[in-house]
Amino acid sequence: MKMYGLIGKKLGHSYSPHFFQEKFSKEKIDGEYRLFEMDNPKHLREMIEKMPDLKGLNVTIPFKLEVAPYLDRLDPVARITGSVNVIKIIRSKQGLFLMGFNTDVYAFEKTLRPLIKNRPNIRGLILGTGGAAHTVSYVLRKLGIYFNFVSRKPTKVESIKYSWINAEIMHNYRLIVNTTPVGMFPRVEDCIALPYDKVTPLHILYDLIYNPEETLFLQKGRAHGAVTKNGLEMLHLQADRSYSIWKGKLFL
Ligand code: NAP
Repeated sequence: MKMYGLIGKKLGHSYSPHFFQEKFSKEKIDGEYRLFEMDNPKHLREMIEKMPDLKGLNVTIPFKLEVAPYLDRLDPVARITGSVNVIKIIRSKQGLFLMGFNTDVYAFEKTLRPLIKNRPNIRGLILGTGGAAHTVSYVLRKLGIYFNFVSRKPTKVESIKYSWINAEIMHNYRLIVNTTPVGMFPRVEDCIALPYDKVTPLHILYDLIYNPEETLFLQKGRAHGAVTKNGLEMLHLQADRSYSIWKGKLFL
């Protein structure tokens, strides 16, 4: 039986095992998908070496940006974004070879495009500056959407603080993407502080979180008529593509 899995710090929120077990049983694949919680990815190679049946891994919060130095090669999108969410494990007489990929970009772009159709001048706010924010910013650049990051501690010129978001910013930036874990299970009562009363039906609020299905961020957006989207479709698309990479159907 081939083994796959997910690495991250706390994985109680993850739907990935459910997705893969369903896929394996539907497609009659002899596979197993496990969760591997760890404090940091320092011992990743040792862990992989001890599990000869392990063929591939997904990477989640907070390791998407941290894992690259422990890999042997990155695909171009992972290299540009610095964010890795898929590891393909290759074993040979020469030893272990780990390749990092980013399938989040493909999945986010595919789910965003229908939302922004006929919205040529829309501008974006990306809440957070971690691995998923790198993915989202890559896609917005590719689609020609001007954006700013919003961060608790802005360090880049294109980053602003939450407290700077006023009515004018809300009017000018109508695509708001939450890439922070705020509101994710089990802390479902948490919510990013924004002037939600300035949200209108012209706004699009996209939360990469999928558990719960509707975060408070999305509930508040919907209450003001915004178009809302959670991260479930993105999760499924990136996971399907991960499996194609592990099976060797997609190469560097
Ligand atoms: P990450 O690398 O740890 O980055 C999260 C970022 O959120 C941090 O860099 C931080 O930015 C901000 N943040 C963290 N705690 C915060 C808080 N208490 N208040 C405000 N901001 C906070 O994590 P990630 O890998 O990017 O994942 C982020 C979220 O996206 C997770 O919920 C993950 O499950 C979800 N995600 C979903 C999909 C999908 O397929 N649906 C794919 C990727 C990620 P600052 O320090 O700059 O404020």
